[in-house]
Amino acid sequence: MTTANLLDFDLEGLAAFCQTLGEKRFRATQLFRWIHQRGAREFDQMSDLAKSLREKLRGAARIEGLPVISQHESADGTIKWLFDVGDGNAVEAVFIPEDDRGTLCVSSQAGCAVGCRFCSTGHQGFSRNLSTGEILAQLWFAEHFLRGHLGTTDRVISNVVMMGMGEPLQNYAALVPALRVMLDDHGYGLSRRRVTVSTSGVVPMIDRLGQDCPVALAVSLHAPNDPLRDNLVPLNRKYPLAELLAACGRYLEHAPRDFITFEYCMLDGVNDQPEHARQLVDLVRASGVNCKFNLIPFNPFPQSGLTRSPNTRVVAFAKMLSDAGIVTTVRKTRGDDIDAACGQLAGDVKDRTRVGERIAQQRTVMLRQVPAGVAKEG
Ligand code: SF4
Repeated sequence: MTTANLLDFDLEGLAAFCQTLGEKRFRATQLFRWIHQRGAREFDQMSDLAKSLREKLRGAARIEGLPVISQHESADGTIKWLFDVGDGNAVEAVFIPEDDRGTLCVSSQAGCAVGCRFCSTGHQGFSRNLSTGEILAQLWFAEHFLRGHLGTTDRVISNVVMMGMGEPLQNYAALVPALRVMLDDHGYGLSRRRVTVSTSGVVPMIDRLGQDCPVALAVSLHAPNDPLRDNLVPLNRKYPLAELLAACGRYLEHAPRDFITFEYCMLDGVNDQPEHARQLVDLVRASGVNCKFNLIPFNPFPQSGLTRSPNTRVVAFAKMLSDAGIVTTVRKTRGDDIDAACGQLAGDVKDRTRVGERIAQQRTVMLRQVPAGVAKEG
């Protein structure tokens, strides 16, 4: 008999599931807290649930994370995990510690159908959507692993960014319940301002997210005009800049923050000239969208045929935007030594023809590297 994976449910879903077992709603809340707040994997750990209920659960449900293929820790404290999602596919999550926060970058799909030119995930092609449980398994595992790793019972992950592999708004049905669990006080209790969905610009789903579950929004802009953006972010041909910026304006009516973050990957000689900065200023001024820019130093990979803009040009570009009154930051590269920087996720499994072989190799490496306990995940 197939059992339900309880990581697939938000609290409402879990309450409905408990009802099918003849249990009251408050049992769902207890169960939910055991799973997400305390990281329980076995029903026998749930000491305040009646033995009869634990037995019922054992017959009908499971708590199943994702097998960890590998874990790499950078000298700067960044940790990258590669998770096996079956059929030779793997996804990555990256933990980025900073003084005042701990951010987890989470994947939403195995591969990605959007195919942005500067993104190594985009070059892999699309395999499949992750389920709600597979999205949440990354957070569930990372939070409870990190508590053990850092020797604390306090929450470690304060921010989640849906910026890993995949276009989250092309996996909307699984994304929204996962976001609800992140925000739920009985789950991870994260603030809406600290959960960010990053999109390449799926306009109708930006509108739906504003209605269904408004969290912080980051938009991968990467170009100041349609011809260039058509080339860098192919989805632009379907939802051009004017439509995208109009959707951003509408989103702000619901958003927990009063600005949209525009991500802009700096590509040498492609989108990093003074003329591009001037066009960007005109574009956002004309749209009236309150925004911040985050300039991202490109992480080159061979198939892209692109190179990183020199630092001096990034600084000059940032200055032009700032001088025009737009708050602009340059993203620090983190985890360079473990290929965890932006656009490098699953870079080492991007050759899909040999992905199964690579996963097998990494598993062997993991058995030598990963601390006791991690390899048992899932
Ligand atoms: S940047 Fe995002 S949307 Fe574009 S291909 Fe990469 S994962 Fe997909």
